[in-house]
Amino acid sequence: MAIDPDFQENRELVDTHAPDGEHDVWGPVDPPEKLGIHGTTVAVDFDICIADGACLQDCPVDVFDWMDTPGHPESEKKADPAREADCIGCYICEDVCPVDAIVIKY
Ligand code: SF4
Repeated sequence: MAIDPDFQENRELVDTHAPDGEHDVWGPVDPPEKLGIHGTTVAVDFDICIADGACLQDCPVDVFDWMDTPGHPESEKKADPAREADCIGCYICEDVCPVDAIVIKY
């Protein structure tokens, strides 16, 4: 299942995460199994992400960092949109993600 493109309407803003510039976290969140969606303009559904790494490799402006998520059923790390404010809207990450865990919202 792909990330819900209407997550802002269908989910609640439950937290913020500020590894290197703050981004939103959309629930439900119940770690370690349920981690929600990180980011708003660059949104990554952590519960779908399998840590493939194509987005980290291909993003031209280095928006993503790995975030360790031990105990999550899909993968032990996630592509965190740590610098979503730097995004230039090229949509490469959306295209390369093999599980459609990313949506770009402008
Ligand atoms: S849309 Fe392009 S610039 Fe923005 S996070 Fe994805 S790959 Fe990076």
